[in-house]
Amino acid sequence: MKYTGKIATFLILLFAALFPITGSTIMNSEDIRARLIFEAYRRAFPDRIDSIEYRNEEWTAVIDGDRFYWARGRILPEADRGRWTLYRPYVFYTYPDQLRDPRSLSPEQIAKLRAQGEAEARLTGVDHHPAFRAALYGSSSRGGAEKRLAKTTLFGKRVNVHGRIVDALGKVDRAVREAAESDQEVAAFLNGIGSIGGYNWREIRGTSRRSFHSWGLAVDIQPARLGGKITFWEWERERNPDWMLAPLERRWMPPKKVVQAFEKEGFAWGGKWDFYDTMHFEYRPELHEMKKVLASVSEAREFSESAADLAGFERSREEPAAR
Ligand SMILES: [Zn+2]
Repeated sequence: MKYTGKIATFLILLFAALFPITGSTIMNSEDIRARLIFEAYRRAFPDRIDSIEYRNEEWTAVIDGDRFYWARGRILPEADRGRWTLYRPYVFYTYPDQLRDPRSLSPEQIAKLRAQGEAEARLTGVDHHPAFRAALYGSSSRGGAEKRLAKTTLFGKRVNVHGRIVDALGKVDRAVREAAESDQEVAAFLNGIGSIGGYNWREIRGTSRRSFHSWGLAVDIQPARLGGKITFWEWERERNPDWMLAPLERRWMPPKKVVQAFEKEGFAWGGKWDFYDTMHFEYRPELHEMKKVLASVSEAREFSESAADLAGFERSREEPAAR
C-alpha cells in the first residue's frame, strides 16, 4: 500500500508537470485517466482533436468546435454533462502485447466474465452516448458514414472501409504479402481466406450502440474453412457456459505476424479480448498511443504497468459486442 501510495503521488506530480492545469494544482486519479485518454486520442487523431482543455473542473476535448467533457468516462457533450448516470462508460484498456492464456484466469475473473456475458445476453445495461465517436469519426448517421467510405482491396478481397484507414490497410496488406514469401503459415492464411467484411451499418443487437463496422473502421477476416474452431465468445457461450476458458488451440486465429502487422498500423485484434472475436480487427490507434503515453511517463516497463493499474485500466478487456 505504501509503495502504491508513493507511485500514485509521483504519478500525479509527473502528470501535473507534463499536462499542467492552468490555475489549479490538484489532479485526482479521474483527472489523470481523462487527461491520459484525451492525450492518446489527440496523438491518434491530430486532425480531429482541436484542443484538450481543463474546463469547469474537468478535462475536455474539442472536436470541430464542439466540447466533450470526460464525465466519468462517458465523454459527453456539454448539454448532457449532468446526465452521466444514463450512459455506459467507454472501455479503455491497456492493449496487451501477448495473448493471454485462459488458464491464467482466476476464479474471480471467470465469475465476473460469466456474469457480464449473461447480462449482455439479456440485453441489460445502458448505452454509450453516441456524440463523441460520431464527432471523432465524422458521421452520426448512416448517410454520413457512407459518404466517408472508400473501396479498397485487402488480401485480394474487395472491401468498403472508412477512408481514414485505407492507407493503414494498404500497409498491412504489403507487410503480410511480404511475410508470406518466406513464411508458409502466413501464405496458407492468405490462401485460406474466404471473405473479408468491412463496412456494415448495424447496431449492436438490442442496443443503440454502434459496432466499429458501422463506421467502416473494422474488418472481419473470414476463413473459407474454420475446421471446427471457435471464433466468437457469444456463439461459444450458447453451448458452453465456460466459453471464456476455451483453450487457445481451439480458437481460430490469424498467424501472429498478421496480427502484428495490423497492430503496427493502429488496429486492435479481437482475439486478445476476454470477449474474444478472433476474426475481428478494429481501428483503435488511441489504445496504442495510450501505451506510449504511459511509457513516456516512465521508461521503466514495470512502472508503466503500475501507472496503468493506478489509472484504472484493465488488461485485455473489451466490452461484449455482438458482431
Ligand atoms: Zn467484426
